[in-house]
Amino acid sequence: MKELEERILRDGIVEDGDVLKVDSFLNHQMDVELFRAMGKEWVRLFDGEGINKIFTIEASGIGIACVAALEFGVPVVFAKKSRTRNIAGEVYHTEVPSFTHGGVSDVIVSKRFLLPSDRLLLIDDFLANGAALEGLIGLAEQAGATVVGAGIAVEKAFQPGGERIRAKGVRVESLARIKSMTSGQLEFC
Ligand code: 5GP
Repeated sequence: MKELEERILRDGIVEDGDVLKVDSFLNHQMDVELFRAMGKEWVRLFDGEGINKIFTIEASGIGIACVAALEFGVPVVFAKKSRTRNIAGEVYHTEVPSFTHGGVSDVIVSKRFLLPSDRLLLIDDFLANGAALEGLIGLAEQAGATVVGAGIAVEKAFQPGGERIRAKGVRVESLARIKSMTSGQLEFC
């Protein structure tokens, strides 16, 4: 998506450790007009797929997911990073290693909000190693829900996540795919 690529080139900052900082428009200050255009693009790409719910993960996917959900006309559920371990019974649970912070988060979602009849679109801001998406897919599997696909804002295609998730048979639609990046130079696929 040209508009997103141009914005990354204009305002993105490449940091050490293969991290792209986009906090001026994507995950701290949020350009919701850009999010709306992204949502419309996913609606176009997943047209006719019967998506009835968007499923994302705390925290930085939530804003994008909410605006996309308005375009789809469906609700959003986000998986929560939980500090409470004594949660068995009412929730599905998995563990997700964090790309940006290190460490592993316990991630939960209430059994009330993921149903076997659900046709889910997973949404996240970044795809790097694929751990966040794998966590969401695992929770969806526990619920018996169908994962229609994943809508990603920025895929760092030089990292293994995209290949890993596509190898599972999950359709991944990334609106900007970065082939390589160093400070001063960033190239899209
Ligand atoms: P993965 O689980 O695919 O390794 O990483 C995806 C998650 O890590 C995303 O939810 C995102 O929050 C974070 N992330 C990964 N790479 C980047 C990056 O280059 N920049 C930012 N801002 N977040 C990233």
